[in-house]
Amino acid sequence: MSQTAMSETYDFLFKFLVIGNAGTGKSCLLHQFIEKKFKEDSNHTIGVEFGSKIINVGGKYVKLQIWDTAGQERFRSVTRSYYRGAAGALLVYDITSRETYNALTNWLTDARMLASQNIVIILCGNKKDLDADREVTFLEASRFAQENELMFLETSALTGENVEEAFVQCARKILNKIESGELDPERMGSGIQYGDAALRQLRSPRRAQAQSAQECGC
Ligand code: GDP
Ligand code: MG
Repeated sequence: MSQTAMSETYDFLFKFLVIGNAGTGKSCLLHQFIEKKFKEDSNHTIGVEFGSKIINVGGKYVKLQIWDTAGQERFRSVTRSYYRGAAGALLVYDITSRETYNALTNWLTDARMLASQNIVIILCGNKKDLDADREVTFLEASRFAQENELMFLETSALTGENVEEAFVQCARKILNKIESGELDPERMGSGIQYGDAALRQLRSPRRAQAQSAQECGC
């Protein structure tokens, strides 16, 4: 198998969103996750609107297809089509800006209403490196997360701290929900698709044999 074909082999594909007020570092988080470096020339998201990466979560390969708002949040016009069929989201605020923290409830309402009631969300308190300018404590944000059934991490798109973890933890939770039957990948708008690897497993030799035995009318 060629290198490209290998790297495109995955078990699941999840649609992910990055939401939160403008200036919280959403585009930088996406860039850090995909490129493993800080995006220096961040002139308000014109550029990365979309990224994808395959990660290994407990032995399963998951392709994350991640949508960035591309600056739409500035005009409070993040569209319904942006949210539609997302399996997971990073909900981002800036730990040095209470205003961005206060906006979380509105973002959460939109995500649950416009994406799916089952969307798995991780709250990210970004700019963890600017601790001296902090306006939101870790404790109050973790309480908010608990009350709203969100996972929670403080991240830094600058240093890279907890960036990969945020995406991986969210993906892991979705996988767990698939395995427990709480999420059905085949439901319309689940934001989940099977990849080639998973399909190959579904068509395992044992199952194929059983099927041909059934088909035989003797
Ligand atoms: P967006 O509007 O949410 O997409 O935010 P951007 O990714 O464009 O970032 C907004 C500003 O915050 C830029 O000036 C970034 O350089 C800066 N920024 C983003 N993430 C971090 C971080 O983790 N730490 C620090 N110190 N600055 C950050
Ligand atoms: Mg942006």
